[in-house]
Amino acid sequence: MSRQRRDPRSDRLAHSVPGTARPRFDMARQVAATGPGGRARRDPRAERAGQTVSIDPRLRLDRAASHLLPAAAPAAPALPSGLPTRDVLILDAPAFTILALAEPGQDRLSPTDRQILGAARLLAGAQGGVILVVDRPVEDAGAAGADRVIVLPQAPHPAARLALVEALYRQVGPRHVVASEAADGADLARRLAARLDCGFFPAVEQIGPRGIVRTLRGRGLDQVARQPAAIMTILPDMVQPYAGKGREARAVDAELAPPPSLDAELIRPQAGSLPLAEADFVVSAGNGIRDFDLFRRVAAALGGTPGASRMLCDAGHMPRAAQVGASGTVLAAQCYLALGIAGAPQHLQGIAGCEHVIAVNTDLHAAMVERAELAIVADAHPVMEALLRLLAEEAQA
Ligand SMILES: Cc1cc2nc3c(=O)[nH]c(=O)nc-3n(C[C@H](O)[C@H](O)[C@H](O)COP(=O)(O)OP(=O)(O)OC[C@H]3O[C@@H](n4cnc5c(N)ncnc54)[C@H](O)[C@@H]3O)c2cc1C
Repeated sequence: MSRQRRDPRSDRLAHSVPGTARPRFDMARQVAATGPGGRARRDPRAERAGQTVSIDPRLRLDRAASHLLPAAAPAAPALPSGLPTRDVLILDAPAFTILALAEPGQDRLSPTDRQILGAARLLAGAQGGVILVVDRPVEDAGAAGADRVIVLPQAPHPAARLALVEALYRQVGPRHVVASEAADGADLARRLAARLDCGFFPAVEQIGPRGIVRTLRGRGLDQVARQPAAIMTILPDMVQPYAGKGREARAVDAELAPPPSLDAELIRPQAGSLPLAEADFVVSAGNGIRDFDLFRRVAAALGGTPGASRMLCDAGHMPRAAQVGASGTVLAAQCYLALGIAGAPQHLQGIAGCEHVIAVNTDLHAAMVERAELAIVADAHPVMEALLRLLAEEAQA
């Protein structure tokens, strides 16, 4: 088959502007011309003019004017139904698994649980799967690095919980188990290691190419295990939480035998009685607060531990023990409610580890408002009164 040949000279003559001393191209005619394959050529200027919305003095593109655009490319084939649309990493067949034991009795992952998951992810790498073990459903397991989530029946007695975790261990056959060195995890991990008679390494501070590391003799000595142990506990605030792409957190049924019925129950501490450093929810007052009785009633009604800025502690309105900040207590709360606090750097240092911050301040430009995820720019007193009213209504309903 013969291909039509182009004659560049006659093309040039056809588009040159007659009557000019120097040969010039007539761009309008050039644009209207068709290419050698007979395909209509695009005129970007005409397309842009057609897309301009004339009533607006500012140039805007009207995407609806699609008739001016060349025929659209064929649509990409739709994803087969059933595939998740969220942008998460899915590991269908992990090469091995790591069990991450979250602290029981919580509806949300605590900062310590996230560190456990961070450690488990370091051990799992790209090929291993991390199974989060909780005793009630949690929402944010995928973002925290879990590939699978197993919800065990609630078993407050340590021996009953051990029986469940041991049965799960035998069913899953994980390469490693990680738990927190704080609170319940430390006890459970030691009981499990003793029951299974396998390697145990406590209070891990680092997981890296050197292996796993803990410190001894007041941090004067490093103890390094080149191979991670079968069961490990992680010291709080030593391993970073997972910060990579979200994982699938697929719920898996373990189908374990019910735990032995042993008498024990979990009792939550009285609202607001936890020390500042351990509290999950802190309600703090700053120099913008005048009515301290109202403030204390709000903190009690919300079930938060009362805190304060240094200004108030210096003035004697709040005890020194309530001071939040660099020279007071550094918090690890999940939620911090700051009422009338400006957000000086020394104060913000104390709440750097708080997951969520809510600010009530009359000044829109206060540093605390900038730090907060939710800010109410208003006088804190009517806000506190409204809160009390709402809580009372809720209690009555
Ligand atoms: C060495 C050093 C260490 C320090 N360590 C600490 C520390 O550990 N902790 C600490 O807190 N500070 C510390 N400070 C003090 C710190 O610098 C600030 O002075 C202090 O935090 C300010 O407290 P504040 O925000 O309550 O008061 P202010 O700075 O007076 O701010 C009051 C805020 O309340 C708002 N407001 C006023 N009226 C209302 C109202 N009706 N309703 C709502 N909002 C209102 C205002 O807009 C303002 O933003 C330290 C200072 C130094 C020099």
